[in-house]
Amino acid sequence: MLENKVAIITGGTRGIGYAIAKKYIENQAKVIIFGSREETVTKALKELQEEIPGCEVSGYYPSLIDEEQIQSTFEEIYQKYGHIDILVNNAGVSARDSLYQYELEDFKKTVDINLTSVFVCSKVAASYMKKQGNGVILNTSSMVSIYGQPSGVAYPATKFAVNGLTKSLARELGKDHIRVNAVAPGIIRTDMVATLPKEMIDPLIKTIPLGRIGEPEDIANAFVFLGSDMASYITGVVLSVDGAAMN
Ligand code: NAD
Repeated sequence: MLENKVAIITGGTRGIGYAIAKKYIENQAKVIIFGSREETVTKALKELQEEIPGCEVSGYYPSLIDEEQIQSTFEEIYQKYGHIDILVNNAGVSARDSLYQYELEDFKKTVDINLTSVFVCSKVAASYMKKQGNGVILNTSSMVSIYGQPSGVAYPATKFAVNGLTKSLARELGKDHIRVNAVAPGIIRTDMVATLPKEMIDPLIKTIPLGRIGEPEDIANAFVFLGSDMASYITGVVLSVDGAAMN
């Protein structure tokens, strides 16, 4: 479904981003993963190459909120491949502090990685996509972007903003043939959820009509579809992939 498409995936070293990278490679995309550190990028590349021998994948670890670093990294990728077809803004951190204990610095850090990075990477990617006459930007939102959550307010706040950015950029960039969509996962089995206490997860599972938490592959499948030409008339949507949790 993604033959010859060049796809950059932020937060591609583990969890949902790793699953997207793997599915994209399986669907014939040329994949570039971004991670936060050299060691984690190297480890993820090794794992992908072991899982899919001979696959075309490379990795970088630029700061996602440093426009110059992102610009030079995208330029290197563009020089290598000649096009940048899909950007998946997936890197993110969760938050759980109560408002009364919330440090402003922690709030800002969550905004940086969950929201500012989406702005910076989308801005740089869109300049290449406009030049080549097409492109797809996909964002990882969250179920909490619709319902909120009872602590860690920076997290849902950034994800509401990611939805706003998605819908607004879809309207702004449509004329340049750039589609912009988001996927809003429910509760997915990754490191992010592994740190949550069982007392928090178990009651949530009971509210999911499909009766289970999601797997990273459930989310990756949605990203394959939205990144492909099968979704050529879809832009500005936030697609819930959550087993109808909390509906
Ligand atoms: P994870 O913690 O397993 O992976 C997070 C990824 O983000 C990692 O690859 C990490 O390297 C990257 N990252 C974190 N901080 C970074 C930084 N400062 N710079 C660069 N990269 C950084 O989490 P996950 O569950 O796979 O989450 C991926 C996305 O899915 C996030 O945007 C998250 O908000 C969203 N999400 C997850 C769930 C869930 O239940 N797991 C639900 C809804 C949304």
